[in-house]
Amino acid sequence: MSIYSGDAYTTELPIMSLREVVMFPRSIVPLFVGRDASVKAIEAAQSLYDKKIFLVAQRNPDQEKPTIKDLYEVGTVSRILQLLRLPDGTIKVLFEGLYKARLVDFQAQESETNTKGIDLVYVDAIPIEDGEYNNTSEALFRMIKEALEEYAEINKKLSQENIQAIWSSQSPGALADAVLPHVKVDYRRKQEALEMADPIERLEKVYEILLTEISISGLEARIKNRVKTQMEKNQKEYYLNEQIKAINKEMGRDEDPQFELLELERQLKEKNMPEEAREKALRECKKLRMMSSTSAEYSVVRNYIDWILDLPWNELKETQIDIDKASEILEAEHYGLEKPKERILEYLAVQKLVNKLKGPILCLVGPPGVGKTSLARSVARATGREFVRLSLGGVRDEAEIRGHRRTYVGALPGKIIQSLKRVKHSNPLFCLDEIDKMSADFRGDPSSALLEVLDPEQNSTFNDHYLDLDYDLSQVFFITTANSLHSIPLPLQDRMEIIRLPGYLETEKARIARNFLLPKQIEAHGLNSQNLKISDNAILEIIRTYTREAGVRNLERELATVCRKAAMHIVKADASDRMVNVGLQNLHLSLGVKKYRYGEREEKAQVGVCTGLAYTQLGGEILMVETTLMPGSGKVEITGQLGGVMTESAKAAFSYVRSRSDVLSLKPDFHKEIDLHIHVPEGATPKDGPSAGITLATSIVSALLGIPVRNDVAMTGEITLRGRVLPIGGLREKLLAAHRGMLSTVLIPKENERDLKEVPPEILKGLNIVFVDHADEVLNLALSIDTGVSVFSSVSDTLPFYRTLAKGFVREEDSPHQ
Ligand code: ADP
Repeated sequence: MSIYSGDAYTTELPIMSLREVVMFPRSIVPLFVGRDASVKAIEAAQSLYDKKIFLVAQRNPDQEKPTIKDLYEVGTVSRILQLLRLPDGTIKVLFEGLYKARLVDFQAQESETNTKGIDLVYVDAIPIEDGEYNNTSEALFRMIKEALEEYAEINKKLSQENIQAIWSSQSPGALADAVLPHVKVDYRRKQEALEMADPIERLEKVYEILLTEISISGLEARIKNRVKTQMEKNQKEYYLNEQIKAINKEMGRDEDPQFELLELERQLKEKNMPEEAREKALRECKKLRMMSSTSAEYSVVRNYIDWILDLPWNELKETQIDIDKASEILEAEHYGLEKPKERILEYLAVQKLVNKLKGPILCLVGPPGVGKTSLARSVARATGREFVRLSLGGVRDEAEIRGHRRTYVGALPGKIIQSLKRVKHSNPLFCLDEIDKMSADFRGDPSSALLEVLDPEQNSTFNDHYLDLDYDLSQVFFITTANSLHSIPLPLQDRMEIIRLPGYLETEKARIARNFLLPKQIEAHGLNSQNLKISDNAILEIIRTYTREAGVRNLERELATVCRKAAMHIVKADASDRMVNVGLQNLHLSLGVKKYRYGEREEKAQVGVCTGLAYTQLGGEILMVETTLMPGSGKVEITGQLGGVMTESAKAAFSYVRSRSDVLSLKPDFHKEIDLHIHVPEGATPKDGPSAGITLATSIVSALLGIPVRNDVAMTGEITLRGRVLPIGGLREKLLAAHRGMLSTVLIPKENERDLKEVPPEILKGLNIVFVDHADEVLNLALSIDTGVSVFSSVSDTLPFYRTLAKGFVREEDSPHQ
């Protein structure tokens, strides 16, 4: 008989190893026994060892047949209280822990009692230390009680009876042994507690285990709860979605909005776009789920998502810059324009070297129809980019560039984003046409939005108000076009590199028509070079009398008309007559009466009528200035299409004339007796008003003196109050116009001499160009009096009534141009 409280003594017992279970003294635990060795040990204990058995935990629960090394040393000698054999061969055994014991030896198979191959061991009983009841243990008792109650709340398996039973323990040691069998904790920690000798230490360990378990259980409960609600939500959504589908099917709606949304979400997830845009669109998709698909709000949100989905975000088209090939393309598609082409190729070369787009934006400036847009189109082809064109003419609202905020009814993105949607790539060549035709009003200034678009430093995050997302424009190649520079805001001009395309000469136009425009139109009208022939003379005639322009747009239109008429004739005619020859004689049959008189100069020299040269949006033009006088009281009336600047210029010219009244042999107060009417009949408003100064002065003097102005002389130049002639702009265009107008002599400011090198020699050849410094020289050259006679000294009885007879007015030293 072994004793288990008191001194250690060694006893021989069958051993059963436990997996993930630790048996404590004084506890009653049911266990299922299935392993062969264990069943044999139980049977031996039952019959030979007074129902006693040594229960000890395995270090590694996975081991099927542990040896002594695989077992902990400390275990519990227990008694079998009940034994129930189950049909599957396992046994359910109820054990009662008796006392702690230490394993000292594993008996070999040859032991006399071990004939049936039972594992027997020698164990030493470990004396039980239960400890005393004192303040420390009282404190621990209370703490454990509280912790246990909390634990019982979480762990429903710990019943009130169990707790009652635990509280019946009388000593700290007994309490420690009683609590642990009920706590679900890792067996290794229980084993640690079992091996502890000091009862207070053991209690502390129990308390620690309890607290840890409470916090872990709390965490577990929270996680469980969250997972459960998420699962419930998903299930609910799934269920409701299914129901909606069923309802839609029942009602015969074939389009299932929910399905559509899923599809939309899938597309959004797959499309290459910045995360910010994707997240925003997905959020909007979520909103859609809550809405009725027939509501107005639904279509607004849906529209927004479609915009995001349809925009090319990071889709770059492969581009290449091959200078030779680019040059070939530009040459093949455009005649002349050497300088602009050269400049464009240089620009592309730099792009190729630095391998990025950052740099000034190209701005092509010139009159309509000189090929600005089509040049930009060629650049797109040469660089392999897609071409988008946006006309800014008449844009006066910032929102047109940048879009309206989504809160507006019918809001849309701005024109930049709208245009980009049309191309499938985010690196096209973007041609902003007529950038000079934008204007600002109370709705904001579009040019400031454009500044952002064109600024390489900021345009990688262009924010359209509608999208409310950053769009990267930095890969877009911008080219802008304008008719004139002066109405482009300076900050915008600053960001652009200006390339000028002046107007064409007659010969250039003829070549463009023959080699480019005509073949294009012939093909477009389904004709060929066999059935439509146009003579060179006819082309020249079209240029001279059916168009008056710096570019070739109207020329192209007239050629189209010729082709149309020819097509009509060919369709109607019988087989033998399917050919049209257009020459000088029959041109009017296609184009009707001539629209312009070739050579606009006046047929004969007239008093008060002076030919000026103006620089307008259409290029260079001839400007007729007419002055008449009538008796009056010194009023000056100015009519015609005159800008404010030109009106001032007229006043300055008049002041000059008055200041020279003496040398012009005019009465000092001649202006008090007459009224002056200056008129500039037709044509577009000149862009540089002041350049008509000398023309106005000449016209006024001619009228005052009654001397006609030579009809073969044209002039341009600004005038100061003292008669100095100041330089002007647009010389090339003006000389072109003079050439067109068949004027033989042109007076230009001396300071413009250096600009002559830009004028084609072809033009210069036909013109007699005279540089003038002072308006006096102009008068001498332009007023039609005999050669060698100065205006300033000629006195004639035939001069008008206000002309003074006092020759003494003319001071010799004041008339330098003898
Ligand atoms: P812009 O943009 O300057 O108003 P466009 O580019 O629309 O003018 O040109 C008008 C037409 O004239 C186009 O059909 C264009 O191809 C043609 N064109 C203009 N200049 C040339 C040129 N140098 N060579 C060939 N065709 C030209």
